[in-house]
Amino acid sequence: MTAERHSHAELRFAYGTMGSGKSTLALQIYHNLAAAGLRGMLWTQLDRVDGRVSSRLGVSADAYRVEPGLNLFQSGKSYSDRNGRLDFMVCDEAQFYSPEQVEQLARVVDELDADVYCFGLLRDFRGYLFPGTARLLEMADSCDEVAVESRCWCGRKATHNARLVEGVQVYEGDLMVVDDPTQEPDSTYELRCRRHWLSGTSASRVAPSVTQPAQRAGASTPRREPDTEASETPTPATPTLSDSGEVSIASS
Ligand SMILES: [Zn+2]
Repeated sequence: MTAERHSHAELRFAYGTMGSGKSTLALQIYHNLAAAGLRGMLWTQLDRVDGRVSSRLGVSADAYRVEPGLNLFQSGKSYSDRNGRLDFMVCDEAQFYSPEQVEQLARVVDELDADVYCFGLLRDFRGYLFPGTARLLEMADSCDEVAVESRCWCGRKATHNARLVEGVQVYEGDLMVVDDPTQEPDSTYELRCRRHWLSGTSASRVAPSVTQPAQRAGASTPRREPDTEASETPTPATPTLSDSGEVSIASS
């Protein structure tokens, strides 16, 4: 390549918690760009059933699967060779991509001149950045939180995903099962604010007088309560989401 042209292609990363509508957004962007006559690829991670991206709102589309070891730059290049060009890629579940695959997406932008839109979670249930997410934060031209906020049961903004095994929050375990409830029948996920993620407190374990969000300021010192009378129903009927809705599309 010689003369470098100035393109506006960008690598963009939109992140949010489970239930923040990331997959819905991914589909929306994919449909909008395709409807405008642009040529692009929709990607998702292998955990997704049937290689489709679907959202809680019932929309779905066929997607290419990001298998481990797949070279996304080469895939984009092949698509471009076959179709004359590649205008964009939409990448769902990007937290599960490897750091190398994220770097390949940067090359898709820089060398193929295609826009790449990535969607994913920031943190795993242990509270650490996913490796793919960390690389995206380091490499992307822009990083934005998706606008649809999720809330903890206490009313604060949800920033963490808690994994519960038989109703009790756990801080260790296999990462990749986060999106595959079938592999882990006893696990559920709950959105939490940092405070309640750290303390491991479910709404069902809090005395009524403390459940009011207004009560927050230092009222309860975060502390770990490893186990209590593990309630079978960790999920209150409030704005959290967990077992019910999480099935095939958990993170979106
Ligand atoms: Zn909370």
